[in-house]
Amino acid sequence: MLQQLTERVFVATGGTNTGVILSDDGRVVLIDTGLNDTHARKVLRIVRDDLGTEIRAILTTHGHADHFGANAFVVKRTNASVHAPDVDEMVLRHPLMQAVMLFGGADPVDTLRTRFLLAEDGPVDGLLEPGNQVLEGVELDIVSLAGHSMNQMGIVIDGIFFCADVVFPDATLEKYRIPYLYGLTEHLDALDFSLSVACRQVVPGHGPVEEGIAGSVERNRAVIDRTITALLSILDTPKSTDQICVDLFTVLNVPVGDDGGYFLLRPTVAAYLSHLQRVNQVCTDIANKGVVWRRT
Ligand SMILES: [Zn+2]
Repeated sequence: MLQQLTERVFVATGGTNTGVILSDDGRVVLIDTGLNDTHARKVLRIVRDDLGTEIRAILTTHGHADHFGANAFVVKRTNASVHAPDVDEMVLRHPLMQAVMLFGGADPVDTLRTRFLLAEDGPVDGLLEPGNQVLEGVELDIVSLAGHSMNQMGIVIDGIFFCADVVFPDATLEKYRIPYLYGLTEHLDALDFSLSVACRQVVPGHGPVEEGIAGSVERNRAVIDRTITALLSILDTPKSTDQICVDLFTVLNVPVGDDGGYFLLRPTVAAYLSHLQRVNQVCTDIANKGVVWRRT
């Protein structure tokens, strides 16, 4: 489970990958704690038994429960300090906000209050800001990868690029068909930017460690292009957001298991629509007291 990448950089692989970094005082800084206590317990055991040290701090790349879900568990047992990006950090302190945002800002339905979306709340001690810096005894470069979340950050240490969810592995693209996005305009920039990050190896939030990010960026972009093409063809006639969702999920064979699954996907479709409106490919009309989208 523990893979060593450089003298001081390790990754504890799992459903969500956890970076394990040796700091200048011999203690460890974690990058993302993962979804739950089961994963965090394994990471704690590795740090104590295999590396013979303690956890000093947690760096959280973004405010999604599968990345910070075990923060509270780790903090209780180690008193580690927590750093997270501005805006996203609010979700660490108030995890319900993730479901609230997915549900359009309203009191979310119970099917969005799952363990996958609703983590235990935990503290935030400092903000992750872009730039080259020494943080918790580790020299690192923090880069903005906003788009997948409002303010997602990537972290580069010793030529290892922890790129969070700017890309998803093939298995995820294949299974979910339209990966979650907060904003497509910024996400496209983040994908381009990722190609310019000098690194020897890439540790994505999910999936195997890669030698470079180019192949993964290309496959993730292909999924976006496929989604845009399908959306534009659906919008040959004006449609409401919900009708667009139904048509798009049908055309792209997107699995929708329950209402929670639908509400999780709907904001991503809205992110595509606001981007396409920004680049003047679609626009809105008011029809029969509702908003419909159409091609320009
Ligand atoms: Zn995420």
